Amino acid sequence: MDKQVRTRFAPSPTGFLHVGGLRTALYAYLFARHHNGKMILRIEDTDQERLVEGATTHLQEVLSTMNIDYDEGPDKGGEYGPYIQSERLEIYQKYAKELIEKDEAYYCFCTKDRLDEMRESQKKRKVAPMYDKHCRTLPKEDCEKALAASTPHVIRQAIPTDKTISFKDAVRGHVEFDSNTLDDHVLMKADGFPTYHLAVVVDDHLMEISHIIRGEEWLPSAPKHAALYESFGWDIPEFVHLPLLLNPDRTKLSKRQGDVNVEDYLAKGYLKDAIINFIALLGWHEEKSDQEIYSLQELIQKFSLDRVQKAGAVFDLQKFEWINCHYIKQLPDEELIEKILPHLEKEDFWQKNPDKTLLKNTLTDLRARLKTLSDVGEAIKSYFQVTSHDTSIYPHEKMKIDLPLAKKAIEEGLKVLEELPEEDFTEEKTKEALIAHVQKLEWKNGHLLWPLRVAMTGEKYSPGVFELLTVLGKEESLKRLKQALELF
Ligand code: GLU
Repeated sequence: MDKQVRTRFAPSPTGFLHVGGLRTALYAYLFARHHNGKMILRIEDTDQERLVEGATTHLQEVLSTMNIDYDEGPDKGGEYGPYIQSERLEIYQKYAKELIEKDEAYYCFCTKDRLDEMRESQKKRKVAPMYDKHCRTLPKEDCEKALAASTPHVIRQAIPTDKTISFKDAVRGHVEFDSNTLDDHVLMKADGFPTYHLAVVVDDHLMEISHIIRGEEWLPSAPKHAALYESFGWDIPEFVHLPLLLNPDRTKLSKRQGDVNVEDYLAKGYLKDAIINFIALLGWHEEKSDQEIYSLQELIQKFSLDRVQKAGAVFDLQKFEWINCHYIKQLPDEELIEKILPHLEKEDFWQKNPDKTLLKNTLTDLRARLKTLSDVGEAIKSYFQVTSHDTSIYPHEKMKIDLPLAKKAIEEGLKVLEELPEEDFTEEKTKEALIAHVQKLEWKNGHLLWPLRVAMTGEKYSPGVFELLTVLGKEESLKRLKQALELF
């Protein structure tokens, strides 16, 4: 790459980071790092009606949590600042004036009533809602008079007529639009704030952005931007429109189908490495490879725009869980404990009995079963407590287990386990002993194991009986079985 790569993530501060936003930020980061370039964070807050207090700080925190370490931004400074658009108003005003002088933009004094009427009539005629260019041909004197009288006005882009606007997109190749389908949209609002379209073009140019990486939803805006670059006489950076994120039913990813914010996944106990890994694969794949697990370093090394797909990327929650499981399994004991503690602290059983030794003993089983950190309570509560003391949960229709059989099973189990030395309370040895006994009784495995498991947990669903015996040890296991027997 001859020019220095400079990418940007340019979110509007809404208070949350959408997973699509994280993907944009991640790709901008990976691409910049891969090419020893720079990544910029720019806050696009020109829509003053949608401002959320604290949103920028929050966003910076989430990006930092996710290890997306941009080089320039509001909190990092840089030579191209300020990096918050509301602090750059004079710059946009200057460039809007330049466009007016070049006849590439014009003042529009249309009142809200006039615009409403125009839209109503367009609706009735079933034509696309577009500004009718009324002020584009306003005589110069009228325009000056109106300005002198401080008539409220906006500035609109004079989109060229009868032209094909084309540009290159790294994902889509050659893209073209008929200029007649584009609206003379507003560049400067009546309150002196620019719209997104003007601000984004001016900033991307002044900040020397080489690659504009953003979601496909911005593709319809790209020809307007391309036209603006041309009006200014500036080079167009390379556009990179990332594929849409889809629900499994291929509709656009929406909140209705589940969580869409990075914060939700962090709170649920998805590990940040897993989030990055999963998000990276939403639209990018290595050539000829089924690899699913990537560290951030590996992604930096391998990421390239030519492997970004055009087709929508399905947000597959099962795959996300699978990747998260993978990372949970890799965590060393101390780190796993540190990460699950905040979730455990919400649990009653832990508040009553915060037994760290017992917790440590559950880790092997926990690692095998934990999908997200917030499932920890559900996953290990049986080791800490017997939930129910009610015999009604013992009968099992399918396995043909009734109360007398359940009682007999507990007695038989106790007999075997009492004889087993303490050091043989391992998964392997307890299994060997109990299965041998099942065979001797000529029962099915479930006839003995189901009642034993229910007796030790008071739960229909829990870790398996051998895991329970191993983690709880001889004394606690026998105690639970004897207590259960007393209920019959
Ligand atoms: N401010 C836009 C957003 O909220 C940025 C679009 C772009 O990257 O050009 O996503």
